[in-house]
Order: sequence, then C-alpha cells, then structure tokens
Amino acid sequence: MRIEGSCYCGAVRFACDAYAPVPYLRCYCSICRKTAGGGGYAINLGARADTLEITGERHIRKFHARIDGEESPGERRFCGRCGSALWVWDPRWPDLVHPFASAIDTDLPAPPAQVHMMLGSKASWVRVDAKRGEEREPEYPSQSLKDWHKAHKLLSKA
Ligand SMILES: [Zn+2]
Ligand SMILES: [Zn+2]
Repeated sequence: MRIEGSCYCGAVRFACDAYAPVPYLRCYCSICRKTAGGGGYAINLGARADTLEITGERHIRKFHARIDGEESPGERRFCGRCGSALWVWDPRWPDLVHPFASAIDTDLPAPPAQVHMMLGSKASWVRVDAKRGEEREPEYPSQSLKDWHKAHKLLSKA
C-alpha cells in the first residue's frame, strides 16, 4: 500500500510502499513517548526503504537514542522546523523504514486489534487502552510487524 506522509509544517513530505500499513502496535517506551507520543505511546508502520521518496529532505534532522547507555544505530528522523517525528531507519535492517503513523496523511486501515509493547517503560500516568485478550508485553512482542500482518491476512503487497 502506497502511503504518503508529511510533517506538521509541510516542509517535509514523503511517500513509501508499506507492507505493514496497519497501525496496531503501540510502543510505550520513553523514546517514543518523548519524541513522538504525546498520549504516551507512538505507532510505527513497516515500509520498504527502497521505495521512499522525500521532498524537503534538507529540513530533516536525525537523532540517535541512547538505549542501555549506548547510542543506538537507529536513526530517528524528524522535521528540523516543526519537530514532527517522521520515521525510524536502522542500518541493521537497511531494507526497512518505519514511518510514524502520526505523520501519515493517507487513510490507514483501522487495526482489528492492538498490541501494547514496552509496557515496562510506560509512564505511570498513561492508561493502556487495551481490549480483553490483547497482547501486552513488558518489552518486545512475539510477532514482528510482518508476522502480525501475515497472521491477520493484512500484509500489503504493494
Ligand atoms: Zn515540519
Ligand atoms: Zn518505542
């Protein structure tokens, strides 16, 4: 599924082919909360890096989070003008790019269920809006973005 996104101020626009376009995975880690998740969590999608098209690239800044005391190789891209979080790209998985659902303008498919991850890092004021039976994980979930989409028959070929 082709998805289009932009930052709040419009200086950066992008599009990419998402194999995992359903915004089901809520991450409550402190990095997501502080950089992209005013409500206490952020949601990443899965897309193919080789399909990424960007306008306004000169406005993009990147940030490396510190995880367990070490700088993560993962690049968190954001707009240097308005601060909107855009996507995460990691050289360990160079074929993938993970746009933040919050930056996407395309109407995304509503998730049939949600998975709540990194609950061990959740701020105490954040309420977890989980339905009965939904997966809750202190750290990472059992399924990758791809596996979850495959299991729910929602994997997008485009
Ligand atoms: Zn902007
Ligand atoms: Zn996170």
